[in-house]
Amino acid sequence: MEKLSLLDFDDNITCTLFFAGCNMRCPFCHNSALVIPGMKPQFIPWQDIKDFLEKRKNVLDAVCVSGGECTLMPDLLEKLGEIKALGYKVKLDTNGSRPEILKIAVEQGLVDYVAMDIKNSKEKYAKTIGVDNVDIKDIEESVDYLMHTDLVDYEFRTTIIEEFHETEDIEKISLWLAGAKRHFLQQYVDRDGCIEHGFHPVPKEKALIWKAILDKNIEKVELRGYE
Ligand code: SF4
Repeated sequence: MEKLSLLDFDDNITCTLFFAGCNMRCPFCHNSALVIPGMKPQFIPWQDIKDFLEKRKNVLDAVCVSGGECTLMPDLLEKLGEIKALGYKVKLDTNGSRPEILKIAVEQGLVDYVAMDIKNSKEKYAKTIGVDNVDIKDIEESVDYLMHTDLVDYEFRTTIIEEFHETEDIEKISLWLAGAKRHFLQQYVDRDGCIEHGFHPVPKEKALIWKAILDKNIEKVELRGYE
C-alpha cells in the first residue's frame, strides 16, 4: 500500500493498493516481489486497508487498484464495491488480459478510470511480456472495449525500452490504437525491484519521434517520466 500519491490519478489525492500475482513476466517489471512466486511481498489484511480508507475519507479522493495484475484476484469486484461504498473514486491498472472482469467492473460502476498497458506491437507481445502463451485476442478485446464504451475514461500506456521497441513497433501500435483517446509513452527506469536488469531507456529525442507517429492516430499522446 502506498498511502499517498499525487501522481497516479490526475489531480486526485490517491492511495495505491498493489495486489500480488501476475500472469505476465515482463522482464522490465518493477514489482518482482508481487509477480515472482515465493518472493513474499508484504501482506496487509483487507480489514486494515478498509480501516485506513475509512479514516482517510476526508483526505484522500481516490484509490488506485494496481498490481501485479489485480483482475486475477477472485474477489476483485467485491473489494472494488467496498472501496466505492466508502465514497472513493477508483482507478484500475491492468495489463488487459482479463477483458471479462474489466467489463463487469466497468458495467457495475465500480471503476472511474482504467489505465491499460500496451506492451508492444502484437507480433512482439509474447517476447515483451516474457511468456510463451499470451492470448492476444484478450488484449485486443480489452483495447476494443475501452475505446468503444462510454462508461469509463481510460488511458493506454507503453513503457518504452531500447531492447524491446523499434520504430516499426510504434507504427503498428499507432495503427492498432487508431481513434484512442489517450496514450502515454513512459520512460523506463532500471530499479532494484525489476525482474531483470540491464535494459536501456529510450532517449527523449527518439521518444518524441515516436510520439509524432502516435499523434497521427491518437487524440492525445504524452511522454511520461521524461524531463
Ligand atoms: S509489468 Fe505489470 S504485467 Fe508485467 S509482470 Fe509486472 S505487474 Fe505483470
